[in-house]
Amino acid sequence: MSFVAEFNSLSVSSLVERSLEVGSAAVRESLAKSSPTLTDFVRLISPAAGEFLETMSHRSQQLTRQRFGKVIRLFAPLYLSNECINNCKYCGFSRDNPILRVTLSVEEVLREARALKAQGFRNVLLVAGEHPKFVSNGYLGECVAALREEMPSVSLEVGPLETADYRPLVTAGAEGLVVYQETYDRAIYQEMHTAGPKRNFDWRLETPERAYGAGFRRIGIGALYGLADWRFEALAVAAHADYLLRHCWKAALTISLPRLRPSAGDFAPRTQISDRELVQLVCAFRLMFPDVGLVLSTREPVKLRDGLIPLGITLMSAGSHTEPGGYTGAGKEHIHHTQRGQIVELASGASEWAATNGHATNATGQFDIADARSAEEVAKLIQHLGYEPVWKDWDAALS
Ligand code: SF4
Repeated sequence: MSFVAEFNSLSVSSLVERSLEVGSAAVRESLAKSSPTLTDFVRLISPAAGEFLETMSHRSQQLTRQRFGKVIRLFAPLYLSNECINNCKYCGFSRDNPILRVTLSVEEVLREARALKAQGFRNVLLVAGEHPKFVSNGYLGECVAALREEMPSVSLEVGPLETADYRPLVTAGAEGLVVYQETYDRAIYQEMHTAGPKRNFDWRLETPERAYGAGFRRIGIGALYGLADWRFEALAVAAHADYLLRHCWKAALTISLPRLRPSAGDFAPRTQISDRELVQLVCAFRLMFPDVGLVLSTREPVKLRDGLIPLGITLMSAGSHTEPGGYTGAGKEHIHHTQRGQIVELASGASEWAATNGHATNATGQFDIADARSAEEVAKLIQHLGYEPVWKDWDAALS
């Protein structure tokens, strides 16, 4: 049975209602458990558990140190392309946004990777919009293969593929696959995704299983907070993670907790999760899943990122750019608009957002980042907090 069937039999809304009614005694009971269940997770994300944040933080910190040591793995996103055939209301790369677009050549991707390597990175996440014409499977395979000598660890965050199409990417050297469901609320998902193959909710939901079948050794999931109720998303992510731990147990699982950021299209978040609630959620995920990696990106502001380091986070991006060519200016000679899959020369009508986002000579970014510190600054801060920044924890030679 795939997770889709299990998800369909779960009433996430009822769990949210239960969470809102939980009392202190139930929270205490769940906090005392060494192996919490989904019922305990319902309690740990409740408003009542907000009163126990100090205890939760302490437990989360202890567990993380026990399971992972005092280390934070660092990675950088490397954007290959901002072409996309989907319209996702919340994303700057949406097909109908008149942004400045580009797909880097393999040589340009190498340039970007070498710049990241010079900063210390040995772990990159290749990110691209979904566009079979510009970002074909063959192109992705070439990028991964070209990076083999430069980067010991390469993961992908690209449009979902069939298992058979993932296999050559694994063979080429990709070890991880990240796919966010964005929202697990089917109605909101349909409302947010107005055009393109991404409209197929179930196809996306089954992607981690297809990736596992293809042999990826790291799988990343998550929801984008700001679309549906945060407790709804968190419960669905927890159920999904629980399923993957049971059925895809050979892979290392990570959960990301991205919150919406400003982007081209000026989408306003539909819902909020406060900083304090985000901290509670990190702790709840840690207590529920002691061995799962928790990822924090540069979407979050400096103070919150620094505060979360000792509480349960194990993997962080740093010094990130969300536009292709962002680290070196690669690709700026062939920046263009794209209309109906055709490249259109730059003329008037460029997105106002694209012109004012500070990268007018490069392509438009996916979203604004909130922590603009360099990788070196973040690494120093991690050390200052008594943790070790880890740039490399895997080498294909070890497999
Ligand atoms: S979220 Fe992904 S699929 Fe949707 S528009 Fe952005 S890049 Fe394309």
